[in-house]
This record gives sequence, structure tokens and C-alpha cells, in this order.
Amino acid sequence: QLQLSDRINNLETSATLAMAAKARALKAEGKDIISLSLGEPDFNTPDFIKDAAIQAINDNYNSYTPVDGYVELKEAIIEKFKRDNNLTYDLSQIVVSTGAKQSLANVALVCINPGDEVILPCPYWVSYRDIVKIAEGVPVEVKTSIENDFKMTPEQLENAITPKTKMLWFSSPCNPSGSSYSEKELRALADVLKKHPNIVVVSDEIYEHINFVGKHASMAQFEDMYDRTVTVNGVSKAFAMTGWRIGYIGAPTAIARACTKMQGQITSGANCIAQRAVITALKAPVSKIQFMIDKFKERRSLILDLLNEVEGFKCNRPEGAFYVFPNVSAFFGKTFKGRKIENATDLSMYLLEEAHVATVTGEAFGNEDCLRLSYAASETEIKEAVKRIKEALQ
Ligand code: PLP
Repeated sequence: QLQLSDRINNLETSATLAMAAKARALKAEGKDIISLSLGEPDFNTPDFIKDAAIQAINDNYNSYTPVDGYVELKEAIIEKFKRDNNLTYDLSQIVVSTGAKQSLANVALVCINPGDEVILPCPYWVSYRDIVKIAEGVPVEVKTSIENDFKMTPEQLENAITPKTKMLWFSSPCNPSGSSYSEKELRALADVLKKHPNIVVVSDEIYEHINFVGKHASMAQFEDMYDRTVTVNGVSKAFAMTGWRIGYIGAPTAIARACTKMQGQITSGANCIAQRAVITALKAPVSKIQFMIDKFKERRSLILDLLNEVEGFKCNRPEGAFYVFPNVSAFFGKTFKGRKIENATDLSMYLLEEAHVATVTGEAFGNEDCLRLSYAASETEIKEAVKRIKEALQ
């Protein structure tokens, strides 16, 4: 009998992917499914980026690239960090990877020893928990609530720290809650970390540009945090380039070098054509992608207005990304069409099967009271989806 490793046997199957599979199966049966479960923009990659990729093919960019990325791309990333985040990095601190997901996996594998604790404010992005587990770390969940805009307070951080704490991982703007930490809020967390100089922070800023409230703030902008913060970013979300698979980090040199060593044994450098295209993407002014951000902002208002009319959905106002994360615990214990809803997973399944609307249970993100709905969908789809949800829950 084939025996797989404990590592894979102990890994959860991604709930977002499970939902996508179920939605696909229903679609194949001919059901008209509206998907609000996806974490990707519904726009095409802008033409000026596509043109750069076509040019790269014609210019015969087809060989292995340096493991940590083309120097021209790393230079463009350095410029971007300076321009958008006022962060100063040199070439030895930048590593380009196959999506921010690989950036995160590299960082976990080079920083975490078995048994090290990693603090994850909940809700967190679905893969953090399992990437930490692959590295044999111990995820330590810190529950936040809608009343506090799903943000971890300094007191909560302090209470979660133990002698075994190695890292803190968070995204801002956050997937799934959309919450964005202000400079002041980050400073308050940094003040707690001052007393714990060995804790390394992963600041996942992949939704940086999809921010509807003021200026994006980075943890590494604080002098006392710079030497122990890994800033993770990528082009998937703001540039509508999910399938191109380019992510990157700005990090202390020792971590960056270690990530290059790790990646050199696992995948080598990221795709050459995508890297060339991303040089063009990152050099462009943010105004070139502003139309997508403006659309997301309009849709946020639309979906919030509509959901606020559905009794039982309690929403806050997400400050960024393209998700709403309503608390739906008012439905727990109730029965609809003969089906008892005990938790967010039941509700998500019920909405898929009854309303033909795909959402993701908050359980996947470490919060059992909420549902994640993506508004990276057309206005028509958003309107129809919420109408169906409302009907199914009457
Ligand atoms: N970080 C967060 C918070 C995300 O939501 C995602 C994608 O869903 C990623 C990282 C991974 O992005 P990439 O497509 O660059 O691997």
C-alpha cells in the first residue's frame, strides 16, 4: 500500500479550492453559478504589460534566469519600494519568486525551526496556516472581531508572545477582511515587538494599491523594524496578473540570501517572460492601473449597500482588497428549506446549492462566524448574487 508522508497527510485541503471544485461540478451540471469565491481580479492584464511580454518572447528571453530574478527586475522593484513605500533596499535584499505564495513559502522554510510559534492574527489568508505547518512551525491564532475591524490590538499581540515565538505574519490590506493597518496602528504593534527583538515579521502587502483609505503603511518603514521585517509583494492583484506568477520580497540580506538558496534547489528563477513583463508593470506609474482600483471601490459600495439590506448579514467597511467579510452568526441554529445551518461552512454550502452563489466559509481563514465574498465580479453579477442570497434566506 502506498504510504504518503505525514507532512502531506497532516495538510488541510484548501477550502477555497474545495469550494471552487464544488462550484465547477454544479456548473458542469448546467447550473448558473455566480462565483464570489475567487481571489482574483476579473480584469485582463493591461495591454502595455502584455506588449512587454510579447516583446520579450521576440527578443528571445528563453534561458534560465538568475535564481533571485533578473537584475533589471530587481532594480525596478528597488525603485518601486522607494517610490511607493519609502523603503530603501539594495540588490542583495530582493528575491523574485513564482508568486508571492512562493515568497512566503521560502521565508517560512528558511526562518522556522520545528516547534517555533508563528503568530497569525485571524482572519488570515488561507495559506499562511498551512505554509507554517509545512515548515513544522506552530500557528498561533489571535482572534479579532468585526467590532475592532478585524485588527489585532497591541495587547492581543503581547499576550500571544511566548519564548517560542519566532514570527508574526499578517497582510494589510487583509485578505479576507479588507482591513488595513494605519501607520499609527502598525507603530503600536511595533512598540510591543521592541521588547522582543528576535521576532521576525512578514508584512504581506500584495493588496497595497487596492486601498481606499489614505496612504498604505509598511512595517519596514520603522527604523527599529526594518532589519527584521520581510516585505512581501507581487503583481497578481493590482496588475490583474494572477496567472503570470511573479511575487517578490524586500528583506534583511541574510533572509534574502537564504530564500535564494532554498529556491535554487526547488524551482530556480521565476518564468523569464513574466519577469520581463513585470519590469514594465512596476516602472509604470500607479495611474495606469487606477481604473481597476476605482472600479473595486465602486463595487465595494454596491455590495455593502446590498448586503446591508439582507437581515442577518453584519458588515464592517473594508478599507482595501476586494472582499467583504460579514459576520453571519445570526443564521446559526436556524433552518432554511429543511436544512439546519450550524456554522459558516453550512451557510456557504447552502448558498451554493440553493442560491447558486459561491462564497468561502470564514473557517478557512480562522474565523467561524463569517463568510468571505469577493467583489472582483461585475456589477450585474454582484446584484444578482445578493438578490439570490436574500431570497434563499427569507
Ligand atoms: N498573499 C495574499 C494575502 C493573497 O491573498 C494572495 C493570493 O490570493 C497571495 C499572497 C499570493 O499571491 P500570488 O498570486 O502572488 O502567489
